[in-house]
Amino acid sequence: MEHFDCVVIGGGMVGAASALTLAQLGLQVALVEQYQAKNYSAEQEIDLRVSAISLASQNLLNQVAAWQQIKAWRVCPYKRLGVWEHESAYTEFNADDIEQTHLGHIVENRLIQLALWQQIHAMENIKTFCPDSLVSLTQDNDKVTLALTHCSITAKLVVGADGAQSKVRQMTAIGMTGWDYQQSAMLINIETSQHQQDITWQQFFPTGPVAFLPLSGESTLGGYASLVWYHQRDEITRLASLSNVQLEQAVLKHFPKKLGAIKVLGKGAFPLTRRHANTYQHKRVLLLGDAAHTINPMAGQGVNLGFKDVVALQQVIAEAIGNGESWHDEAVLARYEKKRRKENLLMMSTMDALYVGFSHPSPVIKAARNLALLAVNKVPFLNSTIKNKALAYACGL
Ligand SMILES: Cc1cc2nc3c(=O)[nH]c(=O)nc-3n(C[C@H](O)[C@H](O)[C@H](O)COP(=O)(O)OP(=O)(O)OC[C@H]3O[C@@H](n4cnc5c(N)ncnc54)[C@H](O)[C@@H]3O)c2cc1C
Repeated sequence: MEHFDCVVIGGGMVGAASALTLAQLGLQVALVEQYQAKNYSAEQEIDLRVSAISLASQNLLNQVAAWQQIKAWRVCPYKRLGVWEHESAYTEFNADDIEQTHLGHIVENRLIQLALWQQIHAMENIKTFCPDSLVSLTQDNDKVTLALTHCSITAKLVVGADGAQSKVRQMTAIGMTGWDYQQSAMLINIETSQHQQDITWQQFFPTGPVAFLPLSGESTLGGYASLVWYHQRDEITRLASLSNVQLEQAVLKHFPKKLGAIKVLGKGAFPLTRRHANTYQHKRVLLLGDAAHTINPMAGQGVNLGFKDVVALQQVIAEAIGNGESWHDEAVLARYEKKRRKENLLMMSTMDALYVGFSHPSPVIKAARNLALLAVNKVPFLNSTIKNKALAYACGL
């Protein structure tokens, strides 16, 4: 049976980044992923699944030498972030305010994954098992034994990065708390006539926000963008059943005028669920990314939190190796959860507070939240402290 220092289950964005950062420490790593990713070509349509990648996540992708490739394929940097409910309380955040050239990039998830996998194939100390899948997992005192579909392997540490429905989480009987938001998000790729490619914006409605995310490239109409439409699940199911032309009319009716003329290219609906694993550790097994936490995507923080988990785990193990400790001791591994749990919880709770606050129908609460946005934009003291701190936090700085 082959033995590894670390086995990472799940080669999505978080698992692939974790395999690379663990390999950077000189550890022998195995990466198990059930699906083989499709190669990139410039003719491929822009994928529906895109993420707003923070400055902190960009740093990580740079550190594992994947960012240059992602950037060479296609990314869209944005410099401004607009948020409002009532037009008069429009608030804009700008990269200049925190002395940065941009606030983040909109990137297709699959391109991030693909660029990470290119680096993985270049590392001698990472062995990939793909397509392969986790079948069972057993732990004894000094190792974890994993049965995969095609073979069995052992490890000192197992990283569960196998997404929201994590089998690793289920096999270690780690429970979770969570709830269903009773909402879905519809992702719509469009061609757009209005040139506003340096901004991402979001308007709040009692039924849920609508958002505009710029995408790279030039189309016959002008540019490309991704729209996110949050609403009750039934309404999103109805919208998903419309033809592209009918959906275009529905978008124009519901979205703010600043969207301009559009052409719908593709659409897909995703249910929104909050989950938080009761613990991120079971002996020598750790959970990272969506396997540990899923968050309301309203502020685009899900994978950014997952990448922070990756950085934290690398730091914990690097420090232990540096101190001459046995890096895979359960007590050492426990430091990972200590670094991450509070911050993940804070971000999840902040998103929920915003979500609940902005969907509350009371006119008093509506007036209060618009006044708060107005104050943050117009009162100089609040503008330079709260606003810039919130912006730096959202950028992961
Ligand atoms: C509508 C929407 C919009 C979002 N927008 C943003 C955004 O703008 N910014 C942001 O930061 N986040 C965003 N997110 C969240 C982000 O998409 C997730 O946090 C991110 O994809 C999680 O990555 P992951 O690698 O942890 O999990 P996943 O992407 O789910 O990857 C898990 C991997 O594990 C593999 N796997 C699963 N089970 C097994 C098994 N048994 N054996 C082997 N392999 C297995 C899967 O094939 C997959 O490749 C959004 C989410 C939604 C729903």
